[in-house]
Amino acid sequence: MKVDHIGIAVRSLKEGLEPYRVLGLELAGTEEVPGQGVRVGFLPLGETRLELLEPMGEDSPIGRHLERRGPGLHHICLRVDDIRASMSRLREAGMRLLSDEPQAGAHGCLVCFVHPASTGGVLLELSQPTDEG
Ligand code: ZN
Repeated sequence: MKVDHIGIAVRSLKEGLEPYRVLGLELAGTEEVPGQGVRVGFLPLGETRLELLEPMGEDSPIGRHLERRGPGLHHICLRVDDIRASMSRLREAGMRLLSDEPQAGAHGCLVCFVHPASTGGVLLELSQPTDEG
């Protein structure tokens, strides 16, 4: 298992990118994930990457997060080999998942979020790469 990416909520990719651009990092690409109402900007960083998350509308999870808390750290994503098995283990341990089934994430991955109430305040994402990625 490893950290797949760290998700950072930004009002705009351009604004959110600025401090990383100054440090010499570059946006490797962007992708829209309509199912999650988010436009993602990828910043590769060694074996992991930062993902800047720009809302595609106010009524999206990131849009609502920005309204309540402003920009900042949003979630940590762990890469897993078998997301359904990981979800079962979490469920059996009484943890609260935000969806019953894996959802489509960026890069063709299957993803699932674990509610912060179950993880000491960290919004945790699990991601399983697929052949599409
Ligand atoms: Zn993510």
